[in-house]
Amino acid sequence: MRDELYQQTILEHNRNPRNFKKPEGATHAAEGYNPLCGDHLWVYMKVNAQDIIEEAAFEGSGCAISKASASMMTTALKGKTTDEAKVLFKEFHDLVIGELKPDTQPNHLGKLTVFSGIWQYPSRVKCASLGWHTMNGAIEKVKTISTE
Ligand code: ZN
Repeated sequence: MRDELYQQTILEHNRNPRNFKKPEGATHAAEGYNPLCGDHLWVYMKVNAQDIIEEAAFEGSGCAISKASASMMTTALKGKTTDEAKVLFKEFHDLVIGELKPDTQPNHLGKLTVFSGIWQYPSRVKCASLGWHTMNGAIEKVKTISTE
């Protein structure tokens, strides 16, 4: 059941990625590269003086999983503080490596739990987490992230 939802979600976000652009006036940006798959993304954020992410967006090219994950990430980040974004990054990371069980452990992942089965496919884990590592790099002012 969840596998089917996963497939549908990936396909839908790949076909129609959300926030797929370079926004005007981004305060944070980083470039992320996953050499294993060839995924190459840029993540942009506009963070206001209250430390709230007003806008999150991405650009680049990659496989369906990397694009769908980045697309869902940008919608999840909007309105969050950068501290909340880092909590979400940690939770998502633990989810995709199979260390967070969303059904029994408290988390803020919401729709992102669709990626919960991906730890069974280690080569895909880096695709799913690339956008998130890149976003974290942008917050930490690291300009280029490689998952290698
Ligand atoms: Zn990939």
